[in-house]
Amino acid sequence: MEFFDAHVHLQTLDNLPELMEQAKQAGFVGFICNSTSPADWDKVLEVSKTYEGVYPCFGIHPLYVENLPSDWAIRLRKILIENPKAMVGEIGLDKFGVDLDFQETVFRTQLELAHELNRPAHIHCVRCWDRLLHVFKTEKEKGKMPPKILSHSHHGDKDLIPRLIEEYNAYFSYSSIFVPDNHPKVQACLKSTPLDRLLIESDAMGNVESKAVGLSKSPLDVIDLVPKMSIISGHKLPMLQEALCKNAMEFING
Ligand SMILES: [Zn+2]
Repeated sequence: MEFFDAHVHLQTLDNLPELMEQAKQAGFVGFICNSTSPADWDKVLEVSKTYEGVYPCFGIHPLYVENLPSDWAIRLRKILIENPKAMVGEIGLDKFGVDLDFQETVFRTQLELAHELNRPAHIHCVRCWDRLLHVFKTEKEKGKMPPKILSHSHHGDKDLIPRLIEEYNAYFSYSSIFVPDNHPKVQACLKSTPLDRLLIESDAMGNVESKAVGLSKSPLDVIDLVPKMSIISGHKLPMLQEALCKNAMEFING
């Protein structure tokens, strides 16, 4: 059994060497490591250089737009150019963050940078789908959308899924929020996601920086999530398992 954690914040986790060893033993072949602000970019880079199979993303999380250094966009461009395989993330809009207008400005700048440098972008959207779709639409009209996007810990309207795939080359990653029975909307999204667009994630984040809602503290949580995803989605376990790893690699490299 192989596992791929499509969205995690390894740089914030305690006892990372032990955790990475356990993950390796358990069959993990990859991790997409997302950053939240310029303060953790160097750490994300270091983690990606220390451990095999860690794919770094650099960006500004919508809950971290306060007190940004004025040269953040110059620094983001620089670190992305220096790391040609790195992706942009995580970026987006969050209703529970400060100043949505400023979040949108920061988001647009990063989408355009991802477009310019031809990098996939990892999207965070909490209760802002209408506004986010407007941003996508207008950026597409300008010809400035990234080549592909991943909606992380996806929870929107299930009818959006085919549209996002067709118009924005979207992939969808699901976290533990699809599991509780009181989330029928998320489960409906999961069931509506084509197998070749489906990924799974822990969204693990350590205590220190868990300003965002951290539901998991370990990428190993993905191990229990896969069988649950199999039951809810109706995809047979071996086939699902293989697709989750294949889709992640395709998203990164394809
Ligand atoms: Zn995250």
